[in-house]
Amino acid sequence: MLQVPMFKLTLTAIPKINSVCRCDARHAKLPAMTNTILILDGGTGRELARRGAPFRQPEWSALALIEGPQFVSAVHRAYVEAGADVITTNSYALVPFHIGVERFASEGVLLAARAGQLARDVADASSHSVRVAGSLPPVCGSYRPDLVDLDRARPILNVLIGALAPNVDHWLAETLSSLAEARLCAMLTAPTGKALWLSFTLEDDGATDASALRSGESVAEAAYLAQEVGAAALLFNCSQPEVMEAAISSARAILGAQSAIRIGVYANACPPMAADAKANSELSPIRADLTPEGYARFAAAWCAAGASILGGCCGIGPEHIAALRTGVTA
Ligand SMILES: [Zn+2]
Repeated sequence: MLQVPMFKLTLTAIPKINSVCRCDARHAKLPAMTNTILILDGGTGRELARRGAPFRQPEWSALALIEGPQFVSAVHRAYVEAGADVITTNSYALVPFHIGVERFASEGVLLAARAGQLARDVADASSHSVRVAGSLPPVCGSYRPDLVDLDRARPILNVLIGALAPNVDHWLAETLSSLAEARLCAMLTAPTGKALWLSFTLEDDGATDASALRSGESVAEAAYLAQEVGAAALLFNCSQPEVMEAAISSARAILGAQSAIRIGVYANACPPMAADAKANSELSPIRADLTPEGYARFAAAWCAAGASILGGCCGIGPEHIAALRTGVTA
């Protein structure tokens, strides 16, 4: 039995996210800092590959959406069955970088709509309450703040937002490496009236002890931005578990113990990313030490530091999510 905080998830405490007023409503749409823990899903791309779905570069996780959508549904179902309260649309690779400029122009809307519908159908068929998060990726390349081009990103994000919106409960702008990307996502999602979760990837190469985004901007600045744009949650994802607790503490120091902005983590099982990483250019090896039980032990520490949303990113699969469900929320 894991020595973890005794949080009890109350499914009925998860409200519908459907209000219209932007700023106040973004805060009001999720329960404030209560004793409820929300469990997210884990990584999609690697789980697709593990199940034998169509998977290759450059399409990455988008290929299953194109050639084998049943695999996408199966991955969503696996996470729901593992106990996830929130599943994420398979739209991370729906960008020109992965599917090509021409295909994005001709099929981007259709594929994003399909990603939303597949997640929605699985959520609606679940015997427990499941929400759908609309994934908004870093469209100019993951882990590369130096490649961020807001003018290029804007129309791409607008395609994803427009096509996903009918089927998502809230937005999950994820693997953000800079404040500028987050600010753009906040601006573009505002007209939808749906809550926004901002999730930043952290520097994890051990070069500094301070919690920092991959841009070098601080976690404190990210927390201030989350307040400024009325985000419902501030998360940290796709970095090593070891750097997450300090980031939670930094964010909590800015937001305060009673903040309506939830803090969350979904770490990866990858080795540290190099500063010149080629985003998803190849499958990096997965750490053998991050067993489901080992990951749940990290998550227990994250809860103790103030996180109330837990999930997994690359290499964290349904078994890990099940361990979070039973270990952290039991
Ligand atoms: Zn990841």
